[in-house]
Amino acid sequence: MDVTSIIEPLNDAQRQAVTAPSQAMLVLAGAGSGKTRVLVHRIAWQIQVEGVSAHGILAVTFTNKAAKEMRSRIEDLLKVSAHTLWIGTFHGIAHRLLRRHAKQAKLPETFQVMDSGDQLRVVKRLLNTLDFDDSKWPPREVQWYINAQKDEGIRARHIIETADIYQRQMLRVYRAYEDLCERSGLVDFAELLLRAHELLRDNPDVLDFYQQRFRQVHVDEFQDTNTIQYAWLRLLTDAKDNLFVVGDDDQSIYGWRGAKVENIYSFQKHYPNHQVIKLEQNYRSTGTILKAANKIIANNAGRMGKELWTEAGEGDLISLYAAFNEQDEAYFVVERIRAWINEGGLRSDAAILYRSNAQSRQFEEKLMATATPYRVYGGLRFFDRAEIKNALAYLRLMSNRHDDASFERVINTPTRGIGAKTLDDMRCIARDQSISLWAAAIVLINQRTMTARATNALIGFLELIKQLDKQAEGLELYEKVKLVVEKCGLVELYQKEKMDKGEEKVENLEELVNAARLFDFSADQENEENLSELDMFLAHAALEAGDSQADDYEDCVQLMTLHSAKGLEFKLVFLVGMEEGLFPSQQSVDDAGRLEEERRLCYVGMTRAMQQLYLTYAESRRLYGRESYPRPSRFLREIPNEFIQEVRMRASISRPLTATKPKTTSLPTTGSYRLGQRVSHAKFGEGVVLQMEGSGAQESVQINFKQAGVKWLMLAYAKLDVL
Ligand code: ATP
Ligand code: MG
Repeated sequence: MDVTSIIEPLNDAQRQAVTAPSQAMLVLAGAGSGKTRVLVHRIAWQIQVEGVSAHGILAVTFTNKAAKEMRSRIEDLLKVSAHTLWIGTFHGIAHRLLRRHAKQAKLPETFQVMDSGDQLRVVKRLLNTLDFDDSKWPPREVQWYINAQKDEGIRARHIIETADIYQRQMLRVYRAYEDLCERSGLVDFAELLLRAHELLRDNPDVLDFYQQRFRQVHVDEFQDTNTIQYAWLRLLTDAKDNLFVVGDDDQSIYGWRGAKVENIYSFQKHYPNHQVIKLEQNYRSTGTILKAANKIIANNAGRMGKELWTEAGEGDLISLYAAFNEQDEAYFVVERIRAWINEGGLRSDAAILYRSNAQSRQFEEKLMATATPYRVYGGLRFFDRAEIKNALAYLRLMSNRHDDASFERVINTPTRGIGAKTLDDMRCIARDQSISLWAAAIVLINQRTMTARATNALIGFLELIKQLDKQAEGLELYEKVKLVVEKCGLVELYQKEKMDKGEEKVENLEELVNAARLFDFSADQENEENLSELDMFLAHAALEAGDSQADDYEDCVQLMTLHSAKGLEFKLVFLVGMEEGLFPSQQSVDDAGRLEEERRLCYVGMTRAMQQLYLTYAESRRLYGRESYPRPSRFLREIPNEFIQEVRMRASISRPLTATKPKTTSLPTTGSYRLGQRVSHAKFGEGVVLQMEGSGAQESVQINFKQAGVKWLMLAYAKLDVL
């Protein structure tokens, strides 16, 4: 048996981890040290050398994209298909278990998965029915509370009521929410995990089956597992000590969502026979990038502590660009990317990473204007668009009449004359009798209390769904989707919308039929659960993130938040919006714990870069409709000067500057001022030119003064000194 391809591309420590006998193992190592590589090779080793069947392996990754990539790398190493291998995200795998064992999990066979947008809508509606004031009880906060309980494994019945009003009210909603989901067969993301845990915990036969089946359980990015995920892993592996995890405490970035970096410590306690392997060589980045990242993360307290080194050369300095506003920032970044492409670089090797999704728009516009193909990960993805969700809601209702979220979504989309009063009546009946809205609609019709018009409208809607369901029988999946798109009235609705927005929506609906046609059932599923094709497609729509936007293999510039960049690598990286209040985020600046998490996020961002890293910030920024004049991020100051060069738009100078130090090179050309220019005013002191308007005697400039704030001044009178 030739195992060269499996062990040759590894260093000694990696090889030790890959070839170790089955036992609990923790590979603790910094960014780019080959943790994910170890996982892939370990799985290949187990199958090839230890004779474990692919069927006996479970691997958990953080994103669907990572899962796909891992499977194909394993197949490359083994040169055979590994389709029986279970590999996916925690949510994906939990979903699979629940489908297979719906009955033992106490779920209806037709349960539907809600994504967080659906969940928020359900919460909103619930708050309305319970007469909660939206302004005092923001739906998002309630949603957060519910998910936080579930992430800790806490059901409403476990919570002991206290005198605290806040807690009592939250508990009331949580209870009502649980009832509603139970009634409608709806499962949110946190519920997937909690249910999957309860399934194993409460059904010894099921647990025993999976404990026997999985000879080895592997987890990537272990530092970001939450309480319930870890508890679930323990149930599966406690008996055999067969949990193999890789992680990096310095890259724990989901604390705000309940991740527990402490799980790394707990692991060492719970699996006393475990082995720890540390990897210290980085294979990804240049020396400069690595050293700068190490310097930044060294500012965090309470680290497990590890230094990374590399054999790679020092490479280029990190480039710092001070833009005068967000548009200038986007312009600069896109110009650099174009230069990279002109020099023969691949678009897909370039990534723009930002703290908040809302930052992507500026870059998208500039990329579009220059006809540079790009792809946004985690933005408003195809399956998140309203028109797609509406069409899917019809399909969901056909599959499960009691799916209240879908019922609410489309009962009046397009409008069919079912008024608010009828809806309220249905909600009341549903609540009082603990039945679904669909069932409540039937009760309401039979009560004969509505006007003839309302009754007919309601009957019309129920009939439409029943008819669609009947006509769909025996059709191929894409024909079903086509049928619904054509018959549910959405196309007509959007065709009436003005401008090309409506047209785009109709095109998206057509694309949905296409997506159904191309949907590959066998791709990464064995479908042992015997789901209908439609249910598989619906689950795929709820679970799959960021697909369908552009072809995975299309060569395009990558845009994503820092959070979604975890685990990935790119030759050229732009870390944009390095400003106080944005990165670190405003909420974190007064909270030491959260600030450290932001710093880890910065570490994650910088260590994505293989060859070149650009850091940019804007002196003025319009975001969320507000204008601000932020200070450069503190993280910039944490990088020693020796690793940085400040760049200007056209020429680049190698003069290291601290981020806050004023520029001293003055570049006015024809007596006018340059945007971004530092100037001084007798009364207002030092400032930066933000905008210019008019000419001659009317010429005025907008200046952001350090002390006096933003002012418009007439140039003829202002008497500005250029600094
Ligand atoms: P992260 O913490 O960012 O998830 P990681 O520790 O998982 O990083 P990998 O993504 O596995 O690191 O590896 C980083 C890069 O280094 C990859 O391009 C990988 O192929 C390469 N690499 C890892 N180990 C070796 C090795 N022994 N020889 C050559 N290249 C390696
Ligand atoms: Mg990795």
